Order: sequence, then C-alpha cells, then structure tokens
Amino acid sequence: MFNHNISRRTGRIAAFFLTLFVLLGIPSGCVVNGGKSAPVHLSGVVWGTAYNITYIPTPDVSLEQATAAITEALDAVDTVANAFNPSSEISVFNRVGYLYTPSASFVELIERSKLFNKYSYGAFEPTLAPLVDLWGFGASSKEQECPDNKAIAAAMTKVGLDKIQTTPDGTIKVLTPGVRLDFGAIAKGYGVDKVAAALTRLGIKDYIVEIGGEVRVGGQSPRGDKWAIQIDAPIPDTTGTHTRMAVLTLCEAAVATSGNYRNFRTNSSGQQVYHTISPVTGRPATSDILSATVIASRTADADALATACMVLGLKQASTMITTLTKDPEIGIYGAIFITADKEGHYTLHPVSINTRHATLSD
Ligand code: ADP
Ligand code: MG
Repeated sequence: MFNHNISRRTGRIAAFFLTLFVLLGIPSGCVVNGGKSAPVHLSGVVWGTAYNITYIPTPDVSLEQATAAITEALDAVDTVANAFNPSSEISVFNRVGYLYTPSASFVELIERSKLFNKYSYGAFEPTLAPLVDLWGFGASSKEQECPDNKAIAAAMTKVGLDKIQTTPDGTIKVLTPGVRLDFGAIAKGYGVDKVAAALTRLGIKDYIVEIGGEVRVGGQSPRGDKWAIQIDAPIPDTTGTHTRMAVLTLCEAAVATSGNYRNFRTNSSGQQVYHTISPVTGRPATSDILSATVIASRTADADALATACMVLGLKQASTMITTLTKDPEIGIYGAIFITADKEGHYTLHPVSINTRHATLSD
C-alpha cells in the first residue's frame, strides 16, 4: 500500500532530519491538563520514508478506528500526489497533460503550489519534474551523470506553473506539451496535514504526526506540556546520527525541514549532486543554508517553503519569511536556518519566530 516513493532516493534519508523528542514541562499558552491516557505510538513506512504518529487516545475511539483513519488519509494522498504510483492523479496528469475532473485534493495542491510559488519568488516550483528527472531524482529518471547545457535548456522550456491552467469548467491542463508536475517538495507535508485532520475528525486532539521529518502537533504531549522536537546539526553523513543543535517547542504548529547535507548523491567525478533544483539555473541549488526549518500553521506550506529557502539562500529566504510572517492570514510562524563558516562551525539563524506557536532553546 504505502510502498511508493514520493522522493525516491532522498525520502529514506529525510526521515532522519528531525528527531521527535518529548521534553519536560515548559510553561505554555497551551492549557495543561493532567490525567491523560497512555499515548499510542504508530510507525511505518510511507513513500520510501518513515512515519511516526503519537496520540493520546480518547475513550470512544478504538485503535482500529484510528489506524483505519490514518491509513485512509495516507492512501488518499498517495492516489493523488505520488508520481511514483503510475495510477495516481499526478501520474495520469503527467502522461496525458490534463484532468477533466481533478479531485479536491489535486485542486488544493495546485492552488497551494501557485500561492507558495508566488510567495517564494518562484523558488518553489512544482513543474521542475523534467529537471528533477534529468538530474536523477525523479519518477522517470534514468541514471544521468551530469546533463549537458542543451538538455537543461530543453527541460527549462517545460518549467513554469503559468504553463498549467484551470479552465472555468474545472479542467486542469498544460498549455505547453511536456509540462509535468512533481509534488515531492510538498506532498509529505500535505500527508501530515491530512493525517492530523483525520485524527481531529475522530475527536483526538493531542497528537504529533511526522512523515519523513515533516511534523505537525496538536494539543499536548503525554506529559501534559507542549510537544517539542529536536533540530539536528547538519552533519554531512548518511548514517542517521543526530547531534542536537536546538530544541523547538511547539503549540498548534507544523514544522518542515529541508537540507542537502544528507540528501545528495555523488557522481563519478566525486561531486555531490543535490536534490533541490534552482528554477533559475535548472541546476542543483548551491545554497549557503545547510538546513532550513520553517514553522507554519499547515505542514504543506512549511514543506514548500523549506524547499524554497534552500533555493533562495540565507538573505532572500530571511526576507521572504519575515515578509510572510507579517500577514497573520498566511499562517507562517518563522524559520530557523543553519549555516557553516569556513572552519565548519555552525550558526543558527532564527527568523521572525512567532512565540505563540514556537520557542527555540538549546
Ligand atoms: P526532503 O524533505 O526529502 O528534503 P524536500 O521537501 O526538500 O524534500 O523536496 C525535495 C524534492 O522536491 C526533490 O526531490 C524534487 O522532487 C522536488 N524539488 C526539487 N527542487 C524543487 C523546487 N525548487 N521546487 C519544488 N520542488 C522541488
Ligand atoms: Mg519541502
């Protein structure tokens, strides 16, 4: 069922970005209530990455009901947004170039994508599929060493969300043949939102849901305090070791982290090829940010923006986040970037963190 990869080579590794930590009591705006039931932990594999869900059960919801709701939510996202599932809506769209009756979720993903493409000055660009494939990270990738300028230029002519149109009758279609979608930078976050919504519908309000490092929390931890997560140092290894850089304590918020320090492959010349692509150059983004963590009301939005921050780099990403946090309607609660100096010392850059939803500590 959930053996499809949304982000094939990288998803497995992304699971190690954030380690979930339940910490001791921190005074909070979330009301503390004692006497909670023992938490339920569920974990597994979805889209080639790990998911971990912890919730505090309510008396009228059985484990079977909760598990069925979670499975249904993940399945629903898979059949819409997983380009590695050949029968998903995105796969059909990519093959034929249109959908006459797109699902509500597909429409929502397109709309969120357009919004966050605009907010990120074009850095989040889900029509990069031809380039993601060319660089060897996509659903239709053939192992490619280093694409030549001609191939990159040809793929670039098929990039741009403005090449996808929604007609008044609801059809979504490409305006240029060969334009294809890749929801790899937003789908895990979207999946987290759908699981959180499914739990909320059942009346479960205390939960932490994580898929491949994208996280959303509701209510309180089993200790009756705020949920907290660890932000790892961006140590470039693939062994999944975790060194704590900081702790982020959350209240009704979502968090997504993007980073290239573990998500890369090495070509035959020994160069590292990163999986975040710049829509401007058509090449892997070379960022001064090693890891970008975005805090938001929706995980899908945090996910899209975290990827965009990697493309934009520290200065522009900081400007974008500060601008977005000024409009509360957008629901962006800040970001944390990690950079390194020449000696390899890391610096943490908190940007416009909304302390009602998140606080950072050592
Ligand atoms: P991860 O959580 O695995 O680090 P991200 O959320 O950063 O993943 O998304 C990376 C994936 O998104 C890539 O593997 C690719 O499929 C796609 N992608 C790469 N560059 C961009 C971009 N600039 N905009 C949107 N999607 C992108
Ligand atoms: Mg992302």
